[in-house]
Amino acid sequence: MSQPIFLINEIFTSIEGETSYQGIPMLFIRFTGCNLRCKYCDTKYAYEEGEEYTLKNLLKIVENSELGFVHITGGEPLIQNNLVELLKSIKGKKILIETNGSVDIRAFQFENTVLITDMKTPGSGEADKNHFKNLDYLRKCDELKFVIVDRNDYIWAKALIEKHNLLEKGFVINLSPAIPYLEPSELADWIVKDNLKVRFNLQIHKFIWGDRRGV
Ligand code: SF4
Repeated sequence: MSQPIFLINEIFTSIEGETSYQGIPMLFIRFTGCNLRCKYCDTKYAYEEGEEYTLKNLLKIVENSELGFVHITGGEPLIQNNLVELLKSIKGKKILIETNGSVDIRAFQFENTVLITDMKTPGSGEADKNHFKNLDYLRKCDELKFVIVDRNDYIWAKALIEKHNLLEKGFVINLSPAIPYLEPSELADWIVKDNLKVRFNLQIHKFIWGDRRGV
């Protein structure tokens, strides 16, 4: 029987740079292809470049990794064919899945998966692609992420968080400055001034390795 094929941009081991898992070493699998074109995208190289891997080859790489975490990213992983089959085949690891929030997350929520779900702000240029129903599907173990480009984005994110009572519901909400469009200190000041109970999120891998690929 023919094996499912995946188009992969890169596979590497690095430190988780964001979210409440920040700092943990993980195996990263970056899928090729994205259905959005955010203004601040730092992985444009993943729009088309990629190599084919069979399910068997990918699983071998995952099994050979001694790390307990796999981070699936892109591009946009949820538009990949056969992703559910891959997720079901990975045993004994926690899987973080970073998604741009334009796709219904329900089919990818398993006991060992954590959906890191973006809410695209107006500053991204892709806010009309948000699948807002995902806010109803989030589990406590999933996390939300807003990349903030400017003050308008911050106000938009804060209003959305309040409208949907996301903090009261106990979700982990990460707000990241879109560097170089917004200074980290500006966003941090707004959060502190408002006593907003979110996580201020910085991509620490960029502070360690800069804009290098594969880290
Ligand atoms: S969703 Fe992510 S990969 Fe796709 S364009 Fe936006 S930032 Fe880039």
